[in-house]
Amino acid sequence: MTYRLTITGQTPSKKRGMQIVYRNACSACRKSPNKCICHRPSAIIKVPSMIPNKDYLKWIKGAVSQLTRQRILLGIEAPLAGPLHVITMIYRHTLRRADKGNLEQTIHDALQEAGVINDDFLIENTDGSRRILGVKKEEARAEIIIKRHIEPLEI
Ligand SMILES: [Zn+2]
Repeated sequence: MTYRLTITGQTPSKKRGMQIVYRNACSACRKSPNKCICHRPSAIIKVPSMIPNKDYLKWIKGAVSQLTRQRILLGIEAPLAGPLHVITMIYRHTLRRADKGNLEQTIHDALQEAGVINDDFLIENTDGSRRILGVKKEEARAEIIIKRHIEPLEI
């Protein structure tokens, strides 16, 4: 089994795409006031919480819709089970070095959200994945190859 998928546009780094917001929480259990589980009278405090920024949310929405369309065309009816070997070739317009692991994580999240893979912990192997920097803006994309991971001793 080998599946090839493409996401057009510049892949954002998930880590860079996160922003800190402050939300209300119970000072004892740190849950939001309406989900407080400690049932003790306690103060409401502000706690930091990480959420994706607007650019990331816009990208993931488009990526999931592209991947869902391709998943149907490829005949992937149920999310792929592991162990998987996922190779991502990430073509970026910018020359700024985004962390390879963070870029791959972004792609893995999109694959999971689009129902291509069942869970990203099933990805056993990412050998061969690369970032290619400085491509033309209209050529920025991510190309993904998904294979079944085979342990070297089984080959
Ligand atoms: Zn509480």
